[in-house]
Amino acid sequence: MNNIARPTDSSTLEPATATSGTVPITVAFGDGIGPEIMKASLDVLLAGGADIAVEPIDIGEKVYLAGQTAGIAPEAWDSLRRTKVFYKAPITTPQGGGFKSLNVTVRKSLGLFANVRPCRTYEPFVASKHSGMDVVIIRENEEDLYAGIEHRQTDEVVQCLKLISRPGCEKIARYAFDYAEAHGRKKVTCFTKDNIMKLTDGLFHKVFEEVGEDYPGIEKEHWIVDIGAAKLADTPEDFDVVVLPNLYGDVLSDVAAQIAGSVGLAPSANIGAAGAMFEAIHGSAPRRAGQDIANPSGLLLAGVMMLSHIGQGRAAERIHNAWLKTMEDGVHTYDIFADGVSTQKVGTLAFAQAIIDRLGEEPVTLAPVRYAENARSFNVPVATTRPPARKELVGIDVFVHWPERDPVPLAAVMQQAENGAYKLAMITNRGVKVWPAGLPETFCTDHWRCRFLAEPGKQFNKAMVVEILNKLTQEGVDFIKTEHLFTFDGEPGFSLGQGQ
Ligand code: NAD
Repeated sequence: MNNIARPTDSSTLEPATATSGTVPITVAFGDGIGPEIMKASLDVLLAGGADIAVEPIDIGEKVYLAGQTAGIAPEAWDSLRRTKVFYKAPITTPQGGGFKSLNVTVRKSLGLFANVRPCRTYEPFVASKHSGMDVVIIRENEEDLYAGIEHRQTDEVVQCLKLISRPGCEKIARYAFDYAEAHGRKKVTCFTKDNIMKLTDGLFHKVFEEVGEDYPGIEKEHWIVDIGAAKLADTPEDFDVVVLPNLYGDVLSDVAAQIAGSVGLAPSANIGAAGAMFEAIHGSAPRRAGQDIANPSGLLLAGVMMLSHIGQGRAAERIHNAWLKTMEDGVHTYDIFADGVSTQKVGTLAFAQAIIDRLGEEPVTLAPVRYAENARSFNVPVATTRPPARKELVGIDVFVHWPERDPVPLAAVMQQAENGAYKLAMITNRGVKVWPAGLPETFCTDHWRCRFLAEPGKQFNKAMVVEILNKLTQEGVDFIKTEHLFTFDGEPGFSLGQGQ
């Protein structure tokens, strides 16, 4: 059956703006298909017993074009900060530069450290390359290379700082295990590249292992991100909950949603101590707007996550199971409609009505879902405070802009800054040791790291840092930055040079 069911009265496309529940939530109807899928989703949530009071705010294209570069009006923050729950339809980012990402602004401003994206298949009712995939990707949302701290330092070299904190690692790891426990999941897998980034990714991995000790009932495993990503793409059914630092999570959450075959069905949540944001992962699909054909499932399932988050697990379960039954009955929107599998092609509002008609029913072939009624308490883990370590300065890395390709004359100049308490220990170029005893084959840029270390039995201090830099200034060396070398409780807080 190929005819699309449409509403007869166009006024039904007007989004609901007020509801009578008791739990206030901030709602943005967004751009493109946003208003249609938000209305459909709210209709289903309310019919399913959600106790919510909608506070609408304006975000997106018209706010950007009115001159707010973050795409959100200043007064909208009052509602967000009061309700602490943001249910957001997709927005259109205007073409051209100067517009900041609304999602990044909201995430960072409200400290939404955990991005949660369930990715699962609904075979045989929605085609997928994988059967039995049911993975939840939990991505750290605030740290890593996304701090946006970048510098150009020489003619040839730019850098981006990767910042990883122990509290950040602890919060996301604990969130992943708490999530697994609350949702009856059996295993949490961590992906990092700690064979290369021993301090940053090493900390993420280490804290994951430490936190996992508190959850003896949940299996934990770690994969290096390259082979882990390959396995996730090849056999996603082997994974359950996956927790990752920001960059890997950004990439792999899209991969996971895509291989599930259901980008239009995937929800996501951004969780923090000061609030939470729930949305579909797709955009505003402007070409589908105003036609009552878009699939509201991603946004509706984000609404289900929101209900679970605010402690309304019973309504979440009822709605989610009615949605699964609708999928199973073959009532599908155009994007997932398939002859021979689907039984009815419906538009946005008719799809919502089909779910409402099935409230109280459960799927037969697909597994029904279960939610704890009040799962709120696990949502916002707090990092533990630790006594500070004994921190000792043992040397300094001086980064130098030096256009010659040969490290030997550079070493001779840098050695002018030595004294009896410290000496030049090595020079690296892009991390590879090139002095002493470098290989002539190593390609060198104009960006050099020169490491001064305290001599055995000697103390190093900050006055010596100034002394070194003064001497280098006299020698005409173009130093561009320094990094202090500390030990923490006797353990080096810095990596060795490659080949050192
Ligand atoms: P898109 O996700 O809007 O659309 C990609 C494709 O998927 C299109 O063919 C579209 O028709 C289809 N599609 C998406 N959602 C659908 C749904 N619910 N039902 C049926 N079909 C659906 O991606 P895009 O076209 O690259 O971006 C459009 C706009 O959305 C851009 O302005 C982009 O910046 C914005 N965007 C916003 C968000 C957000 O608000 N979180 C996320 C991604 C993109």
